[in-house]
Amino acid sequence: MMTQEQTANVDAAEIAKFEKLASRWWDRNSEFKPLHDINPLRVGFIDSKVNLVGKRVLDIGCGGGILSEAMAYRGAKVTGIDMGEAPLGVARLHLYESKLDIDYQKITAEEFAAQRPGSFAVVTCLEMLEHVPDPAAIIKSCYDLLEPGGDLFVSTINRNPKAWLFAVVGAEYVLRMLPRGTHDYRKFIRPSELAQWARETGFVMGELTGMTYNPFTRSYSLGHDVDVNYLLHLQKPL
Ligand code: SAH
Repeated sequence: MMTQEQTANVDAAEIAKFEKLASRWWDRNSEFKPLHDINPLRVGFIDSKVNLVGKRVLDIGCGGGILSEAMAYRGAKVTGIDMGEAPLGVARLHLYESKLDIDYQKITAEEFAAQRPGSFAVVTCLEMLEHVPDPAAIIKSCYDLLEPGGDLFVSTINRNPKAWLFAVVGAEYVLRMLPRGTHDYRKFIRPSELAQWARETGFVMGELTGMTYNPFTRSYSLGHDVDVNYLLHLQKPL
């Protein structure tokens, strides 16, 4: 029998990158600093759209749980799924520290969609699509996992020369915020491509916001500039 990893929409080399770094997931000065830094902004954006209190939320590609925990802290009932064993181990351990209650599972989005269709009010899939062989299939699974009227939040990296300069050259080579090879430019996704997959799936477009990093102030902000990192809100019709 084939294992889930071999049959599914999973790139083992991508999972291995995160397995290797997992022990430092909650170290704010590690490779995961960018995720820690943008977390309040993205959780604030999500909460402002859906009011997380009491909502059933699925976090796809949850990793060590930075986003999952922040959403649980705001009152959501969170399930986190990922295909990395080590990141999930870190996420589960961190619950002892945070005292939050989150259900972490190693399963693909596709398989979970088959098991639990229509089960979540909110699905998040942040900074994960650019590591997956078939990102359009993930969008389809997100749709299936949502209840009618549910909300999806997706973030990834745009594909253009500026994104290459900032997300690959700047982050991996100049500022050395991320290990070399973290991101493969060819897997970056233009907002128009993401929007097309979303529309084809049946989603209604919501707000698109940019997440920009200012290397001088070393801070992030949300805004109109979607040239590099961006976050998109989509809705499944009622
Ligand atoms: N979403 C989290 C972590 C992003 S890092 C955050 O933004 O804070 C990317 C994560 O995606 C890693 O934990 C990696 O293991 C996971 N991942 C990559 N490909 C995956 C796949 N096909 N299925 C599930 N998780 C995947």
